[in-house]
Amino acid sequence: MDRQVDVAIVGGSFAGLAAGLMLARARRRVVVFDTGQTRNRFAQAGHGFLGMDGLPPAEMQRRGQADLLAYPTARIVPQHVTELHGAQGAFTLTAGATWEAKQVILAHGMRDTLPAIPGLTEGWGTWVMQCPYCHGYEAADQPTGILMTTPAPPHHLTLLRDWTTDLALFCNGHPLPEELRTKARDWGIPVYEASVVAVQDQAGTRVICLADGQQVQRKVLYLVSRAEPSCDLPTQLGCAFEDGPSGPFVQVDMMQRTSVPGVFAAGDLCRPMYGALFAAADGARAGSAAHHALLFGQG
Ligand SMILES: Cc1cc2nc3c(=O)[nH]c(=O)nc-3n(C[C@H](O)[C@H](O)[C@H](O)COP(=O)(O)OP(=O)(O)OC[C@H]3O[C@@H](n4cnc5c(N)ncnc54)[C@H](O)[C@@H]3O)c2cc1C
Repeated sequence: MDRQVDVAIVGGSFAGLAAGLMLARARRRVVVFDTGQTRNRFAQAGHGFLGMDGLPPAEMQRRGQADLLAYPTARIVPQHVTELHGAQGAFTLTAGATWEAKQVILAHGMRDTLPAIPGLTEGWGTWVMQCPYCHGYEAADQPTGILMTTPAPPHHLTLLRDWTTDLALFCNGHPLPEELRTKARDWGIPVYEASVVAVQDQAGTRVICLADGQQVQRKVLYLVSRAEPSCDLPTQLGCAFEDGPSGPFVQVDMMQRTSVPGVFAAGDLCRPMYGALFAAADGARAGSAAHHALLFGQG
């Protein structure tokens, strides 16, 4: 098999497939490496993506793959990229075998780390969630909890009010700014100060268990996860990072260029605000920018 391509893309979810599509339509040789762990795989359905609203995440990915594989110069390789080095025009990737590429697009997404509270991981994507734009509509008007995972003011307190007014705030041992305490009181939102020691889901009855012995029933629980790049390739390459509310993300410019010439990034990996459609838009931009770089140089 020919392992020399114009552009290699690491990650074949929303960002990587959209990037690949641009390059394949420009008739360039493109390979997408993907290990099939899309970030939304824990949810039953993905929402807010034009034309695919409500589809299971695996089906969304399958449709994107089918679009890409309709082009003869595109390949998808189900391998983990473990190493990536080189410079603009001559990158080498290790993904089972060795591959060579002139430009590289990093689209391998982020890995979520939840607080070590028993039950949270099991509920992630079904009733423990992060983004009301993704799943808030389906949980509208339900008894909803907000779990503070850091001392940062919980922006969900204000944000969620367009989805439900039946809210409860779990400070989880973190101090609550006075201004937010006043807001919560004015809006009739109960505030629980004690640490959360477990969350439980027994056949749809969901309970937040507190260190002071209280147990509070909620249908849905929102939190802000910690996230880190799902592999260390940006660090291997020396890409610059920026700080975001969930942790560091790869710095890019308007054309998705990282600080390393010839290396582009797209999707959750390089943005503080997550979303499948945002990731796909980044990918389309990265794909066309990488194509321009093949023709004009990176500038
Ligand atoms: C529970 C949950 C539900 C969500 N629901 C929604 C929703 O309803 N609507 C919405 O818009 N957004 C939703 N999101 C956010 C959405 O999942 C992300 O914004 C989106 O998946 C980001 O796409 P991406 O292409 O950047 O990366 P990802 O989807 O994270 O995909 C990265 C891909 O790269 C692969 N990969 C990683 N490392 C390597 C490597 N070294 N080599 C090869 N492959 C690699 C992974 O296997 C994965 O397939 C949800 C997120 C979560 C956590």
